Amino acid sequence: MVLKVYNTLTRQKEEFHPMTGNRVYMFVCGPTTYDHSHLGHARTYVAFDVIARYLRYQGYDLFYLMNITDIDDNIIKRANERDIPPAELAEKFFKLFIKDMDTLNINSVNLYAKATEHVQEIISQIETLMEKGFAYNVSGNVYFEVRKFGDFGKLSGQDLDSLQAGARIEVDQEKRNPEDFVLWKSEKPGEPTWDSPWGSGRPGWHIEDTAITTKYFGDQYDIHGGARDLIFPHHESEITIAESATGKKPFVRYWFHSGFLNVEGEKMSKSLGNFFTIQDVLQKYNAEIIRYFLLYTHYKSPIDFAEKYLKEAAVSYERLNKSYQGLISAVENAPDDTGTTKDDLELLEKVKKYREEFLSAMDDDFNTREAIATLFEFSHTLNKALFGAVNPPAKDTLTQIQNTFLEITNILGLFEHDASGKKTDAGDNIVDELIGLLITIRDKLRAEKNFKLTDEIRDTLKSIGVKLEDSKGGTSWKIVEKKE
Ligand SMILES: [Zn+2]
Repeated sequence: MVLKVYNTLTRQKEEFHPMTGNRVYMFVCGPTTYDHSHLGHARTYVAFDVIARYLRYQGYDLFYLMNITDIDDNIIKRANERDIPPAELAEKFFKLFIKDMDTLNINSVNLYAKATEHVQEIISQIETLMEKGFAYNVSGNVYFEVRKFGDFGKLSGQDLDSLQAGARIEVDQEKRNPEDFVLWKSEKPGEPTWDSPWGSGRPGWHIEDTAITTKYFGDQYDIHGGARDLIFPHHESEITIAESATGKKPFVRYWFHSGFLNVEGEKMSKSLGNFFTIQDVLQKYNAEIIRYFLLYTHYKSPIDFAEKYLKEAAVSYERLNKSYQGLISAVENAPDDTGTTKDDLELLEKVKKYREEFLSAMDDDFNTREAIATLFEFSHTLNKALFGAVNPPAKDTLTQIQNTFLEITNILGLFEHDASGKKTDAGDNIVDELIGLLITIRDKLRAEKNFKLTDEIRDTLKSIGVKLEDSKGGTSWKIVEKKE
């Protein structure tokens, strides 16, 4: 089976092949942390969480990086309204964002990179653009001169001439051309600032991402994702910046864009009064149901949200959950070693087929909707075997079925809790959390190419009896015998 992905850049489905061996670098635009995260965020980040999980499941050594825009106009405005420092406001909503991601079981991101922690990288990328003649400084504001880059519009299909003719870009007397965008904003009274060769000020938006990815991934990388409203001008501008700065094309090989989330056919907005934060929805529905609801639509298609659809999702999810709970208790109650019957073998054949169908749906541009449809066939067959058969399947057969069910549903981040609500992968004690922390730190070090320390962490853990395995599904660990 070959993974096929829809690439916004080429406007077609293509086979997925990383740039370097098995290594995959994926970057997804993170939030601007000035408010609570809403359902649209949940949609985007659940979609990319599943993409990340599937790439790891398929054995790719994925590094998933997300930026956090923690300095921008909205943050400054909101902080001023509340009379607190912008950094305090941004940090508060960053923490709440991480909490929401955690609740939604979005745990695939290796590193969250804040803009304010990468200002030096941003400045040095702007310097490169200045040296190469792509950027110009007007009294402390630095702009990118878009017409100097001969390849503008290839991602969004926008054409420079029609852009100039249209009124899509505000006219600014200071800029040489209306389509030029800002890389560095000069200091305004009362705003946070950083020193730069052009005077004190703060970074523009687009350059934040390119400076961050260049630091961790190098000049070119595999996947850039985000919601589809970011294609233009944000992602188009990123390509413009990066390919001008490095001279290398393509900046990113695959561009993935998730569809919108509307509310009863309308764009979700505070002014329309149809705005839902993640916390609003969690008041009534648990996180697995929200995930399930979001994944029941292919990630590129729009989702229409209404409470009645979420209710339907809850009912439909409960049907799957009932089969799964039935399976758990059947495994627990089955007598040991009754021997595998012909019916058992047939059942296992069917389960194998469902697993293959599930995976081939995922191979088709991460088609979670089709994959979930397979789960219903799986559950239907399972119910017949558990509740309809004269002789229940043998314990060994049931265990194999359970393993397969968990193997594929974990790709979706569903059914990771048992009946008592405990995580089935037993990630609930301090040892798990500490080793998890070391794995995260090691991933960060690896992204910075500090292989000496990453090896040291691995070797030291091994010497105390913890073996890290960098293969399928990212880095896993197990307790082994101590090396004396
Ligand atoms: Zn971005």
